[in-house]
Amino acid sequence: MTTSRKPRIAVVKLASCDGCQLAFLGLGEKLLELASQVEIVHFAEAGPLGALTDLDITFIEGSVSTREDQDTVHSVRRQSRFLVTIGACATSGGIQALRNLSAGNLLSSVYPSPEYVDFLAHSTPVSSEVGVDLELWGCPVNGTQILTAIASLLFGAAPAAERDKVCLECKRRQIPCVMVAKGIPCLGPVTLTGCGALCPSFDRGCYGCYGPSENPETPSLARRFAGLGLLPDDIARRFLFVNSQAPAFLAEGRRWTKEDRHE
Ligand code: SF4
Ligand code: SF4
Repeated sequence: MTTSRKPRIAVVKLASCDGCQLAFLGLGEKLLELASQVEIVHFAEAGPLGALTDLDITFIEGSVSTREDQDTVHSVRRQSRFLVTIGACATSGGIQALRNLSAGNLLSSVYPSPEYVDFLAHSTPVSSEVGVDLELWGCPVNGTQILTAIASLLFGAAPAAERDKVCLECKRRQIPCVMVAKGIPCLGPVTLTGCGALCPSFDRGCYGCYGPSENPETPSLARRFAGLGLLPDDIARRFLFVNSQAPAFLAEGRRWTKEDRHE
C-alpha cells in the first residue's frame, strides 16, 4: 500500500449461516494481530458496524437471495478496491441455491404466510451480479485462506490459486482412499483441495465443499458411483449439493436427474 492510513477491511454478510465469518473469528490471536495492522471497518459478527465506504478489501459471505442483498453487493463493489467471496454461498450459491433446482413452490411448503417473504426468484453467487477479484471456496473457508488472501492483495501479489485435487492431499498425507478401500463414494477426484483432505482423514467421503477442480472428470466419477451401487438420483444429489450452481457439478448432476434423463 502506498497510503499512510491503515488498509480498510470489511466483512459483509448476505444470505448465509455465518460459518465463514466464524472461520474469520476462529483465527484468534492472528485476528488480533491482523486488527493491529488494518482497520476492520465493518464486521457485524465481531462488533464493528462502520459505513461500507472507501474500502480496500471487502469479504462477502452469503449468496444473493433478496433485493437488499443485490443492493448491498453493487454498493460494496463500488466502494471496494478488492472484492473477495468467502465460502460456497458467496462463490456458487451454497445450500440456499438448491431452491433454484426445485420445480415446486418451496416457499409455501416452508412458510405458512409466504406472501410476507420477499425473495428473489433464484439464489445466486456474488459473481452473477458484479465482478469479483478472488473467490475462496469451502463450506466453510478456513482462516489460512483468508490470511493468505489479505497478505497477497495488500502486498500486490497475485494470490496463489489452489489447483490440486483432494485426492492429491490424501496421497501427501498417506490417508487410505475411502473409495478404493471401503467403497465409500467420494468427490475428492473432482474437488479442489485446500482443506487438507479433512473428510477422508475421518473415513468419510468428500462432498465437494471446495468446489470443482480444474478439468473435473465428473462423468467418470459418476459412473464409478454407479458401480458402487448409487442410484441415479443419489448420484445427482452428490453433485447437486453445497456447490450445486458450480457449472461442472450442475451439468453432471443434471445428467443424472430424473427429469433430465429422458428415460
Ligand atoms: S479418499 Fe477420496 S479424496 Fe482421498 S484419494 Fe480416495 S477418492 Fe481421492
Ligand atoms: S474433504 Fe471435501 S467435503 Fe471435506 S472439507 Fe475437504 S473439500 Fe470439503
